[in-house]
Formats: sequence, structure tokens, C-alpha cells
Amino acid sequence: MLKDNLANVESNIQKACTKSGRDRADVTLIAVSKTKPAELLKEIYDAGVRDFGENKVQEICEKYDKLPSDIRWHMIGHLQRNKVKQIIDKVCMIHSVDTYRLAEEINVQAKKHNIIMPVLIEINIAGEQSKFGIGREDAVLLAEEISHLDNLRINGLMTVAPYVEDPEENRQYFQEIMQIAVDIRQKKLDNTDIRVLSMGMTGDYMVAVEEGATMVRVGTGIFGERSYARK
Ligand SMILES: *Cc1c(COP(=O)(O)O)cnc(C)c1O
Repeated sequence: MLKDNLANVESNIQKACTKSGRDRADVTLIAVSKTKPAELLKEIYDAGVRDFGENKVQEICEKYDKLPSDIRWHMIGHLQRNKVKQIIDKVCMIHSVDTYRLAEEINVQAKKHNIIMPVLIEINIAGEQSKFGIGREDAVLLAEEISHLDNLRINGLMTVAPYVEDPEENRQYFQEIMQIAVDIRQKKLDNTDIRVLSMGMTGDYMVAVEEGATMVRVGTGIFGERSYARK
């Protein structure tokens, strides 16, 4: 059943690529597996997915030990500075950098492990009170500040667009993210190589792909609805 969901998402991504003249290979599907047990992740893994997204440090740590080591774990949720050290050697990318202080801590921990951590700057594109992310007007400045940290690589931008009934309503926001990426690229900053736009979720990933997303984060569309009640 999960395999059918996955096949459906795959076919939608392919359609969006075809429609916008993009290469399917330029879009990475991240299966957002938060709240889902390791057995379900394994099903999707067996169907060929290697990129998984989680939003809680504890969940990454638990699943990391239970699942194959060739999984690429993406930290996509709000990250507290005191927890960076728990995931620094487990994740392939941190999508949720929205303050200099968080970037600074990631840099310290990455240095300890002698690695360079790929990060994305999270932008709160619609300025929603309820969401994390830096305001669009401050994103370039934050990139400039972070670019001085040698154990980070700024690889792009991430956004969680508003929850909408009609995904067309988010098209403008995806276009704006693309424009901010262009603006940052033009600055030719150190430690910066903008090639990732992490945008698009179950409700709007096709529109996001049409507007240039290189990573889409799909949870419900693959795993079904989440239940947050503790069993
Ligand atoms: C949960 C989550 C997703 C996936 O959301 P769905 O609507 O279930 O696809 C994507 N990105 C982030 C940051 C999330 O927290």
C-alpha cells in the first residue's frame, strides 16, 4: 500500500518535471517519516528511497540505529542549539537554519567531527507567526553572516509554504524563494554553493517542482495521515 502511494508521488513528480521541461534526476524526493515507526520506513527503503526527513532530534537518533546505514537523513524541523551535537554525525543536511547562533553551533560541532555540514537557510516566506524561518527581507543578510563559518556549506534555501486548499496559491512563494536564491548567488559568498531549493510538501509539491524545487519533502502523500496520539 505504501508502495502504491510512493508510485503515485513518483508519477506526479515526473509529470511536473515534464510539464516544466525539467530533468527528473534534478529533483530529490525526501520521504518525511516523522511519527512513523521504523518498519514503515523500511518498506519505503525497500522500494528504493534513500532520503528521509525527520523533524525531531530524538526520532532521528532512534531510527538511525534501527535502519540501514546508507540512508541519507535530513533534519527538516526546528533545531535547538543544545541538540546539534546529537545529530551532527548522523544527518546529511540541516534544512532549518534560521539564526546565526544556530549556524555558529553547527559550525562548532562540525569542526569537532572534522566535517563540513551542508545547510539550508529556512525562510518564512509568507511571514506566518506560527512558523519558524527567517523573514525574506533578512535572508540575504543571514547568508552573508553565515558564510564566514568554514565548517558549514550554505547549499540553498528551504521553506514551508502556507497550508492552502489550492496549491496554485503557493506558486508566488516558490517563485520568491527562487529569486532570493538568485540574489544570494550573485553575492558570490564564501562557503556558499546555492543549488538546493527544498520546497513543496504533500499539498503543493507539483507546483514547487514546476517552480524549480530540487528537493520536495513529502510525508502524508507517502505514509498517510499522521496521528500524534501516543500509543
Ligand atoms: C511534516 C513536514 C513535511 C511533510 O508534510 P506533509 O504535508 O505530510 O507532506 C515537510 N516539511 C516539513 C518541515 C515538515 O515538518
